[in-house]
Amino acid sequence: MEQSASEPQFSSLPLSPARLANLAQLGYSSMTPIQAASLPPGLAGRDLIAQAKTGSGKTAAFGLVLLSKLDLRNTNVQALVLCPTRELAEQVAQELRRLARTDENLKVLTLCGGTPARAQMTSLEYGAHVVVGTPGRLLDLVRRESLKLDALRTLVFDEADRMLDMGFYDDIEKLARACPAERQTLLFSATYPDGIAQLSRQFLREPVDVKLLEQHAPTKIRQVFYKVDEEERLDAVALLLDKHRPVSTLAFCNTREQCRDLLATLEAHGFVALALHGELEQIERDQVLVQFAGRSCSVLVATDVAARGLDIAELEAVINVDITPDPKVHTHRIGRTGRVDAEGWAFSLASRRERIFVERIEEAHGVKFEWANLPPRRTGARTPLVPPMATLQILGGRREKMRAGDVLGALTGSAGFSAGQVGKIHINEHSTYVAVERSIARLALQKLSQGKVKGRTVKVRLLDATPR
Ligand code: ADP
Ligand code: MG
Repeated sequence: MEQSASEPQFSSLPLSPARLANLAQLGYSSMTPIQAASLPPGLAGRDLIAQAKTGSGKTAAFGLVLLSKLDLRNTNVQALVLCPTRELAEQVAQELRRLARTDENLKVLTLCGGTPARAQMTSLEYGAHVVVGTPGRLLDLVRRESLKLDALRTLVFDEADRMLDMGFYDDIEKLARACPAERQTLLFSATYPDGIAQLSRQFLREPVDVKLLEQHAPTKIRQVFYKVDEEERLDAVALLLDKHRPVSTLAFCNTREQCRDLLATLEAHGFVALALHGELEQIERDQVLVQFAGRSCSVLVATDVAARGLDIAELEAVINVDITPDPKVHTHRIGRTGRVDAEGWAFSLASRRERIFVERIEEAHGVKFEWANLPPRRTGARTPLVPPMATLQILGGRREKMRAGDVLGALTGSAGFSAGQVGKIHINEHSTYVAVERSIARLALQKLSQGKVKGRTVKVRLLDATPR
């Protein structure tokens, strides 16, 4: 499966074409996780309290937000970035200039201690759109009424924990009070000591919490969310399957009607899919599960109720076709992928109406999810996603003392197949199911029907999920 496909793209953000082109030129081909989590709420004007390790691209995470709000015709200071040290301030200023290469008259000024204040006051007289600096000197310049903050729109605390370590709390507090109340405040910090919570309570307004902690055991499930409109939802499932080509996918719907509609859509697109729903007789349910577990069906469509108790290893992907309103159910759904040692995908499709459910899940887990664009609709011929196996049903099961060895023996003996071409064998009361490589399915059916299993002739049939 391709990973690059669902890296979050800058193009999903409300940024100008010039800005996007510049990002591409800088080699920023996709957003880093902290950018993907903080840019959407940040660009929407929300205050942020964000946590991520060094080197994760935090500068662009706040830089693109503050740049998007600048009015370049106005030479007053509109954004202020507080940094703990002169070196960091220089780095931030440099990154901001890189991000804004296409904004011709943009002026970014660094104002730190260790440089004569006089020269800085002169620079300020010429005007600057963005000021980056250390708290002590910035406060000094505010007191001298050289740095004026009435036009300020964005206030950024970068490396806030380090600023607190360096004893800047009082200076930061005074600077924040000198800023207009009507502003956006973005706080970035690698750790969350008490002082950060205090800063946040004092100066941030209903901040969106963006925490991207390194997990102890990095989760093997990669969750990606997609915004969809109601009418494109079912086709979106097909697009994701075409793009990522998982061998086995469990697709969860909230209702039975949705299951039915999705099954019809997938079949229309040529996928081998089956649905699990409450109306199936036990034997039908078994057959659906056996085919899915035997890798003979690409997609199993189910409601939460129908999927209860399902335990299938080797599931490459779970798709939340609808978002569940219950965070616990969401966890349960996606916990079915990424088992064994494999990495699993969890794709979720959310309509505008469902965003609230997504937020609820994020809150319950203290995370921010990654959003991506749906893969583009294919124009040329598509390669159909075909399951690697097909399942044969042999009449005769435990009652008839059928054992897996008997079936394997029949297929590898006179029928002439290799053991590698035979997959899962499942035996229940009256039937035996055997998965075989899809390419040999019809031939295996023929050989088994004509030959003998356990010394007897048997009735064999190929199950539903067959190639069309
Ligand atoms: P942090 O503040 O988290 O320590 P920086 O903002 O300094 O991280 O970014 C670290 C490096 O990653 C910088 O060299 C920056 O240019 C680069 N960078 C940031 N965002 C991206 C991106 N989306 N793609 C590629 N490189 C990036
Ligand atoms: Mg940084």
